[in-house]
Amino acid sequence: MAGISGFIYLIVGLFVSGFSYYLNNNKGANLAIFIYAGLVLAIIGVIKVGYKLLKSRGLEPVKVRRVQESPVSAFCHNCGNAIKNVENFCTRCGARAFHHRK
Ligand SMILES: [Zn+2]
Repeated sequence: MAGISGFIYLIVGLFVSGFSYYLNNNKGANLAIFIYAGLVLAIIGVIKVGYKLLKSRGLEPVKVRRVQESPVSAFCHNCGNAIKNVENFCTRCGARAFHHRK
């Protein structure tokens, strides 16, 4: 259901643009601005849909990477070595780690 708003922009934009184009040519009305407005709406719709697709595609690897990576939460008070969240002791000198809570 997430991509619907983009499609609505696209459809409404194309409809407005096409209808204005029809009136412009056949009825002699000066609706050039509506043609452009409709095209802009359609382009926004394409961008929205494309952005959603890119986002949903890119989301999966980021999630997996976040789970696997253990963020550095502290630095050893003894030797300055970076200490990860999952470690309770410094991997270099063995000093006890003090984690900063967020
Ligand atoms: Zn250390």
